[in-house]
Amino acid sequence: MENTLLRQLPSVDELIKSPAFNEAVAAYSRALIVDAVREALAEFRLLIVSGKVTDVKSSVVHALVLEKIHEITSSSIVRAINATGTILHTNLGRAVLCDDAVEALTIAASGHVNLEIDLATGERGLRDGLVEGLIKRLTGAEACAVVNNNAAAVFITLNTLAESRDVVISRGELIEIGGSFRLPEIIKKSGCVMREVGTTNRTHPDDYEKAVTKDTAVFFKAHRSNFIVSGFTSEVGLAVLVSIGKRHGVPVVEDLGSGALIDLTKYGLPKEPIVGERLSTGADVVTFSGDKLLGGPQCGIIAGSQAIIDRINKNPLKRVLRADKLTLSALSATLRLYLNEETLSQNLPALRAMTRSVEEIGAIAEKASVLLRQAFGADYKVDVKDGESVIGGGALPGYTLRTKVVLITHKTFSAEKIFKAFLGASPPVLGRIKDNAFVLDMRTVQRAEDVVIGAVKLL
Ligand SMILES: *Cc1c(COP(=O)(O)O)cnc(C)c1O
Repeated sequence: MENTLLRQLPSVDELIKSPAFNEAVAAYSRALIVDAVREALAEFRLLIVSGKVTDVKSSVVHALVLEKIHEITSSSIVRAINATGTILHTNLGRAVLCDDAVEALTIAASGHVNLEIDLATGERGLRDGLVEGLIKRLTGAEACAVVNNNAAAVFITLNTLAESRDVVISRGELIEIGGSFRLPEIIKKSGCVMREVGTTNRTHPDDYEKAVTKDTAVFFKAHRSNFIVSGFTSEVGLAVLVSIGKRHGVPVVEDLGSGALIDLTKYGLPKEPIVGERLSTGADVVTFSGDKLLGGPQCGIIAGSQAIIDRINKNPLKRVLRADKLTLSALSATLRLYLNEETLSQNLPALRAMTRSVEEIGAIAEKASVLLRQAFGADYKVDVKDGESVIGGGALPGYTLRTKVVLITHKTFSAEKIFKAFLGASPPVLGRIKDNAFVLDMRTVQRAEDVVIGAVKLL
């Protein structure tokens, strides 16, 4: 039976001649269609062998080939609906860009730009010069450099200042951010020697003093951006560390991670360290991400003294890690929003999501729940409940924002099954599972309809 079916399968040559693929052959190469045909035949053979198909219908084989062609040729990066409530969700691409940044991206992408040309002189300019004025204004830094991401910013800063020498860091700040950013490994890969001081919960000024030798190149401070410590703890503050550094001629580098450019308490949020304040407290260099609280494109920003930035720019690694015209265009547009703090919370999507009122979120949740009930029928239970969203992106760890969530349960289906169905929708909807219910947090959803499209697939 099995062998008879396998023999009935058309050959690659026969299949490719089928008029069903004329359009595809015209649009793509013959080689691509041959690949798709081969993959489809291999899959069909497996279906026969496993007993899942019991006859060979050419229409079914053709459909499978067309599916393979679609798989190869359609975009693998698609718009996704973030119904997790996590505003800076790393797996969903962190910050949503502001309209001005999107416009700047289109201009930069569709033509040439003055990336490294000084328009006043026609001479070669520095690409980071396109954003340096804004970053200086917004942070008070003497100079800045922009690289691929904050991990790269930490890496090149340490490599520049401390290669083959000691980087002194508190054991309480040897952080892992997730997604393979672990400080001890970055320090090692940057060619530096890590000198740990203090203990996990307590580090004292004396610990740094005693660690200083002729090989000490940097005092490094890392912001604990994704966890909190409490209880019997003590940390050496930046000001004290700077004064110890001054006495010994050791520069202080601070990795802020999710560096805020403005004071978030103005928006009723807790205080997050501000780049400008850390520099004015005396840090020689501060590094931070462009796509966390700042709300811009992925990049790492190094802000600090002119002398150190000059050295970083001369490091061959700068060429390896530099930002491209798209990043710099989007970053520049995002930074310009900060020049008007009145309109910032409306125009910067990340801040808009953080400051969104529970009433506004509740209205969307109510509307979504009505639409979902209509779409689902009686086997599903759809409720609107209070919930808590987190900011994500290593900002304000441990802090939650009040939100409204739509809770979905089914008579027999598990929450996982509902989760997967929403994820399989077009566009995919990413929610959460909590206490055996599927949860849609509406803080990060713009329109109720965005999550309802996902529901249709379930029916
Ligand atoms: C997020 C973070 C990083 C890594 O930044 P990326 O921009 O993701 O490379 C490094 N250090 C701290 C403290 C962070 O919060």
